[in-house]
Amino acid sequence: MKHFSHPESHMMTYGYKPELSEGAVKPPIFQTSTFVFKTAEEGKAFFELAYGLRDKDQDEELGLIYSRINNPNLEILENRLCLWDKTEDCAVFESGMSAISTVLLEFLKPGDLLLYSRPTYGGTDHFITHFLDKIGVDSIGFMPDQNQDEITSLVQASGKADKLALVYIETPANPTNGLIDIEMCKAIATRFETPKRPVYLAVDNTYMGPLWSAPLSFGADLIIYSATKYLGGHSDLIAGAVLGNSEVMQRIKVLRTFLGNMASPHTCWLLLRSLETLKVRMEQQAENTKHIADFLQDHPTVAKLHYLGALKPGSKSHAIHQQQYSSSGAMIAFEIKGGEKEAFQFLNNLRLIKLAVSLGSTESLAQHPASMTHIGVADEIKKRIGISSGLIRLSIGVENHEDLIGDIKSAFKAVD
Ligand SMILES: *Cc1c(COP(=O)(O)O)cnc(C)c1O
Repeated sequence: MKHFSHPESHMMTYGYKPELSEGAVKPPIFQTSTFVFKTAEEGKAFFELAYGLRDKDQDEELGLIYSRINNPNLEILENRLCLWDKTEDCAVFESGMSAISTVLLEFLKPGDLLLYSRPTYGGTDHFITHFLDKIGVDSIGFMPDQNQDEITSLVQASGKADKLALVYIETPANPTNGLIDIEMCKAIATRFETPKRPVYLAVDNTYMGPLWSAPLSFGADLIIYSATKYLGGHSDLIAGAVLGNSEVMQRIKVLRTFLGNMASPHTCWLLLRSLETLKVRMEQQAENTKHIADFLQDHPTVAKLHYLGALKPGSKSHAIHQQQYSSSGAMIAFEIKGGEKEAFQFLNNLRLIKLAVSLGSTESLAQHPASMTHIGVADEIKKRIGISSGLIRLSIGVENHEDLIGDIKSAFKAVD
């Protein structure tokens, strides 16, 4: 396998043994709740590992026990996801939110401090400001335009710097593609940790990963995905994933076992199907997006374009983009001239592009952040990060780019 070093070469076969499944070239759906042990001793050994009661012997693998703990579809999927992010272990969840909430619950306890980037996904924000607050976890948010000194001062001014336990960031930030420097966040985490109290860094990599962004190489400890988006890529499932080294993942997997929020065999099977085309899909989506961004760039109906391929050379964002990412991605936000009325006229007149939230799928989607995904964001933050009433977010799919541009053109014509 070492000779084949590209993850896309392994997405059809890696981690699956046809001889264990009647020679079927594709893994069947292992729709079973429990697994038969060969002997009682074997069952005991499996449980010791699953509960983290002892370390694995060399070459020992966790055997199949019960589908809340592990299942062949779940394990094959997790092994394949590890290849993309070049990491030791992965846990797949029934949603991106369950992946995120499990990470936050495992690495934070009452009294601790969380530092996180804003804006973050609405569900994540709600969990931090409502649920974590309720159980006594304090949090401080920072914005993409703040520098290392400013963020460090925020932590110090909180009076809880010695309680900082986790730094959580989402980059690029939804919906305006604001970029956060992962190495800077690692430096902040390191600045506040002590030998006894590590400060972990978690990165929501949904927008650009795993193809165009490798947060672990910039010092992140945990990578999180909404697998509902690019990994799933067909708008037909909800799932999430967390990746990292064996040590942090052991903790995540034990908590997952007790929260019971792992993905089902059927969802994992769909994701295995999706991973086979991950690279071709994402590359085509990014290619299409370039054409659409070119079209929008100087269009008279467009007041402002947020696209990673159009960052100003010399700007801080441009430098982070060069350093951290290998593509301009397939997400665009743009401000239509006018406000909500014009934005709605545009959205209501799209034909090929569907009016829906979510992103990363084969079909192109459009939505209005101010009144939809980001309706709960405070006005002051909306203003600061550019979520105006005329802002429209596009997730570009794999359709023909000329047809997509034609659709946008005719929807623009309907705006008066
Ligand atoms: C969609 C999304 C989530 C939440 O994932 P679900 O699968 O919907 O639970 C988290 N982070 C980002 C960046 C997202 O886009």
